[in-house]
Amino acid sequence: MNKVYQRILHAALVFSLLLGCTLSVCMPVSASSPEQMDVHFIDVGQGDATLVTCGGHAMLIDAGDDTKGTAIQNYLQKQKISKLDYLILTHPDADHIGGAPVIITKFDISNVFVSNFEKDNQTYRKLIQSLDDKHIKPMTPSVNSVYSLGSASITILAPGKEYDNPNDASIALLLKNGTRSFLFTGDAGENAEKDILKTNIDIRADVYKVGHHGSKYSTSKDFFKAIDPFYAVISCGEGNSYGHPHAETLNTLRANGVMVYRTDEEGTIIATTDGRSVSFNVPASESWKAGEPTGSSASASAGQPAKAAPAQTTTPAVSGQTEPAAQPQPESAPAVEETPQKAATPATKELTYVLNTKTKKFHKPSCSFLPTTNRQDSTESRDSITAQGYVPCKKCNP
Ligand SMILES: [Zn+2]
Ligand SMILES: [Zn+2]
Repeated sequence: MNKVYQRILHAALVFSLLLGCTLSVCMPVSASSPEQMDVHFIDVGQGDATLVTCGGHAMLIDAGDDTKGTAIQNYLQKQKISKLDYLILTHPDADHIGGAPVIITKFDISNVFVSNFEKDNQTYRKLIQSLDDKHIKPMTPSVNSVYSLGSASITILAPGKEYDNPNDASIALLLKNGTRSFLFTGDAGENAEKDILKTNIDIRADVYKVGHHGSKYSTSKDFFKAIDPFYAVISCGEGNSYGHPHAETLNTLRANGVMVYRTDEEGTIIATTDGRSVSFNVPASESWKAGEPTGSSASASAGQPAKAAPAQTTTPAVSGQTEPAAQPQPESAPAVEETPQKAATPATKELTYVLNTKTKKFHKPSCSFLPTTNRQDSTESRDSITAQGYVPCKKCNP
């Protein structure tokens, strides 16, 4: 009897294998190689707007504030886009939805996704009016649902419940093409990040669009660990009043060797993937410049060498730094980041170069890309520095 069962099982196994092969031949989507996907982090100043194109399909995630609608429209038209498969408005804050009415009016849009958080203000009413005018019914996608964009997939990670603030109610999604993935979390804060982790969806991503413009209230440690990104993109405005990106977030990225791209420094950033590798149209930023107000930074050079001191006094230890734990007092971290160019020069000898003990690069003291952590001011000669294995910065060519 057992043998008979075994034979039946065996036959069933062979049959299912055959069926599986046949099916995979019939389903070119999974069998064929991924199409090219381009992710454009459009520079909209302080705000977000990301265009994703894949195999002739297009999606826009957020649309900047109300002064940026037309600029985004022009950008999309330059890319020869007339129709969007998806417009995803992560949450109803003005820096994400302000420009949306222009986009909704000018483009053909198949699906509009909005957060479950509603606002009662003019910006939000304008959005709803523009949707009504085009007879579009927006929806809030549910967690775990998957949508496709050419060969790419979009997995919804949040919001899985209602929150009492708009940022936490952000739509979060994992965009995957081939083996490469991008994570978007809008302005979700730590609470919402915890809830995303609770879904147990694998959120590992090659590219992390840094939550909430690099705010320290997002990118919590556990969440960052789960993403484990290689690249990070920060969308924020130069000199924004929020102090984005915050030093704490930059420190987390830096300590983990993440390559960071910033719209405030580099304008629009485009990442491209064929599903196997990812490339960017600009080099990674090396400034590590935090946006927090520096207080008396302008006049700090003479009066407050103490602020810059931590970077120097800890130099011997820092060179071995690999963990974010190397900052013993997180609250003092901003101070370290905030005084990039104003480090005290040694009184006795003249400062010759500024070293980065981690990346092993050396800079002219006047370089605009001076390190803010792992910094060591040197009075030594060029020869002696290069003999120690340091290589010249490509920006200032010391
Ligand atoms: Zn925002
Ligand atoms: Zn927000």
